[in-house]
Amino acid sequence: MTVKPKLHVLLCAPRGFCAGVVRAIDAVEEALRIHGAPVYVRHEIVHNKYVVETLKSKGAIFVEELDEVPDTTQPVIFSAHGVPKSIPADAEARNIFAIDATCPLVTKVHREAELHHRQGRQVLLVGHAGHPEVVGTLGQLPSGSIILVQTLDDIATLQPLDENNLAYVTQTTLSVDDTRCMVEALTRRFPQIMGPHREDICYATTNRQEAVKRIAPVVDALLVVGSSNSSNSQRLKEVAERSGCKLARLVLRADDVEWDLFANISSLGITAGASAPEILVEEIMDAFAQRFELSVETVSTADEGVFFPLPRELRQAV
Ligand code: SF4
Repeated sequence: MTVKPKLHVLLCAPRGFCAGVVRAIDAVEEALRIHGAPVYVRHEIVHNKYVVETLKSKGAIFVEELDEVPDTTQPVIFSAHGVPKSIPADAEARNIFAIDATCPLVTKVHREAELHHRQGRQVLLVGHAGHPEVVGTLGQLPSGSIILVQTLDDIATLQPLDENNLAYVTQTTLSVDDTRCMVEALTRRFPQIMGPHREDICYATTNRQEAVKRIAPVVDALLVVGSSNSSNSQRLKEVAERSGCKLARLVLRADDVEWDLFANISSLGITAGASAPEILVEEIMDAFAQRFELSVETVSTADEGVFFPLPRELRQAV
């Protein structure tokens, strides 16, 4: 019998599903239970292929745009990332039964942006172009009233309408450290700029990054379980690298692990993005257990007891 090499695994806590993701997935499942299949979902309900495929097998149909939805009385659910204002308006014009599963913490950012706009300020959104959350937040205000800033260069070259009448909001899933630098640059250049009362980066993003910062410097390698299109999962990999971990990888499933890279390690950190289910962490742990003799330690940096109730349209039905 071959003796397996020893591997000490440090499991980050918290990791995986956040309250907004649980709510969005529950919304699809509850809509299927109440209204039967099919239930339409605009965009991946959360950025995880396993979650999407599981919901498809239960009767959810995923579309990218509303015009792919036929005339139907079945519900159409908007994803956790949020949508531009034009989407609910289009749905209403077509008499579509819409259920909004936008995370309440994204909605909070939308309301902040609207409030600043009503008070006459031009709004700057710190975020990544093309991410659905950014598309949704930009779409809360008329074009020109909100500007995306992605880099320190963007801030240096920005030509606002009135530099004494500005506010900023941010994407919820950014790097905490990068965002601090961006906000410092904004306040240096525009000392009068107004920001959120409480950080826009959500508790789940912050806590998962903190746990990675604790573990990354003391392990040989770190795996982030999550999808490559998941912003908060991507940020966890970056945080691990910047915290001194020489080998950090983002993997969706056990089949994606590049085993050659991990052959000579003796310690491994594992975390999961906010849209990655725990079953995939277990799958990856099992795959390591087939190759190594594991000892497992959980490193906890925060307790999370956050819960969001279902979207209003479903609460009424329940
Ligand atoms: S990562 Fe944060 S903002 Fe996004 S769904 Fe989860 S709690 Fe909401």
